[in-house]
Amino acid sequence: MSAADCPDLPSLRAHIGDCRRCPLGDTRTQVVFGVGDPHARLMFIGEAPGKNEDLRGEPFVGAAGKLLDELLASIGLERSQVYIANVVKCRPPGNRDPEAVEIETCTPFLRRQIEVIAPIVIATLGKFATHYVLGTTVGITKLRGKLYRVDGRRVVPVLHPAAALYNGSNRQVMFDDFRRLRTVLDRADDDGSGESVEMAEPGTTPPGEPAQPSLF
Ligand code: URA
Repeated sequence: MSAADCPDLPSLRAHIGDCRRCPLGDTRTQVVFGVGDPHARLMFIGEAPGKNEDLRGEPFVGAAGKLLDELLASIGLERSQVYIANVVKCRPPGNRDPEAVEIETCTPFLRRQIEVIAPIVIATLGKFATHYVLGTTVGITKLRGKLYRVDGRRVVPVLHPAAALYNGSNRQVMFDDFRRLRTVLDRADDDGSGESVEMAEPGTTPPGEPAQPSLF
């Protein structure tokens, strides 16, 4: 049985179990699977659990999570109305960046979470989530502020909330990007097919080229 065979989130969580598939299993407290509405139309993807998440077993419960809650509130949403997961489900020691082997080992779980939840819109928080979902290594500051389509889903890259904690000028950028995220969500409601919205295809759009400047 592989992650791809799991029909729902509980079976996927059971499949992951007390995971030791990569070295992070030796240092983390617990697997941080994800939280929220299993049928959410909007899914957020972060990088990896930090200290608080590792202890609580829930994504984004520390300082970055507090800002994420504020950003959600600014567009009329609560945590329970969206789904939140990470690229890597176990805390990297000392909050270091996740390594390639850890991402490779863990992302089949994220891929299945996306398939099962089937969100209309994915907001990628920061570099690691954006690179994984868009299949690119272009810098997040070039990618944010634009709308992409991957496998029929709208993808909105935004800065990682932690970036606003360390650099105050990023805070306004994030609130602006969330306002745009709200627009994408509202347009997706109006138009089931999404065909009226011009979007960049990450595989075909030159890095940094906005495909639909009119929306943002
Ligand atoms: N940063 C992340 O990327 N994910 C979390 O869950 C917490 C902080």
